[in-house]
Amino acid sequence: MLKGTFSVEIRDDDVSQEIATKLKRLLLFNGMEESKKTPDYVFIVGGDGTVLRTFNKYVDIVNDVKFLSIHTGHLGFYTDYSVQNFEKIFHDMVSIEPVIDQYPLLRINAYCKDNNLIADYYSLNEVTVDSVTGSTYAARVYINGEHFENFRGDGLCISTPTGSTAYNKSLGGAVIHPQMDLFQVTEIAALNNLVYRTLGNPIILSKDDELVIIPNEYDDHRIRVDYMDFNYNTVSKIKITLAEDKKISFIRYNDVDFWKRVKRSFIGDE
Ligand code: NAD
Repeated sequence: MLKGTFSVEIRDDDVSQEIATKLKRLLLFNGMEESKKTPDYVFIVGGDGTVLRTFNKYVDIVNDVKFLSIHTGHLGFYTDYSVQNFEKIFHDMVSIEPVIDQYPLLRINAYCKDNNLIADYYSLNEVTVDSVTGSTYAARVYINGEHFENFRGDGLCISTPTGSTAYNKSLGGAVIHPQMDLFQVTEIAALNNLVYRTLGNPIILSKDDELVIIPNEYDDHRIRVDYMDFNYNTVSKIKITLAEDKKISFIRYNDVDFWKRVKRSFIGDE
């Protein structure tokens, strides 16, 4: 059985609340203590959206926390337990030693005209850059300091391996095994002509690569980190890398193969 402190983050619906109440009772009964601020374990009861919001809440101490999620929504890419089999977690927690899976995160730094840092974010799924007004987004893209392409279109989506099954997938990006240390860039409706020419395919960058986006227009810039929108009046440069200093850890009691999860969610069982 786990030892230490815990917190339970719950989506606001009856099913999630009911499961969370039972879970809390079990954890307290087994000698764990509740701590909202510095928990050793964070239990998430809800959907992928609840996982994203919980990650954001604990991002400052993410290296010291382990997450476990029970999904009560439709998709559950960050979860092993669903509402149908949630009672199994009670059994597994007292009888099985968990394994810890670590997944990479993105680090996003944005700078304003005079090169001052104006934003420093971590992302679990993806970051998208585009214009606030919906006008075409034009930017020069650099990889490791070398000019790569001139982009014009709706925007760019940069995703983590765990985020590869989210927005990235809708944009035609590859589905990536979540424990690989890499990140992916997909174009959102790129215009291709003699001036603006992009590769057209998603690209996959290594943990040592640095992506820099230099927007042609400084103003009306939007940076979307997972579910959050940030609008800026002045952005001169956005630097995106895999985070070197933070990873997210999930505890797993059963070894649900990632590719089985992909099949179950997107193709269906036979
Ligand atoms: P939401 O609740 O509308 O979530 C959108 C959907 O994305 C949900 O079905 C959720 O289960 C799924 N999802 C989230 N993370 C996932 C993952 N890692 N793998 C597979 N599916 C995943 O909105 P929200 O709660 O604000 O979530 C924000 C996320 O929505 C963003 O991080 C982005 O990935 C996703 N999104 C997708 C699209 C698209 O596919 N066209 C557009 C915008 C945002």
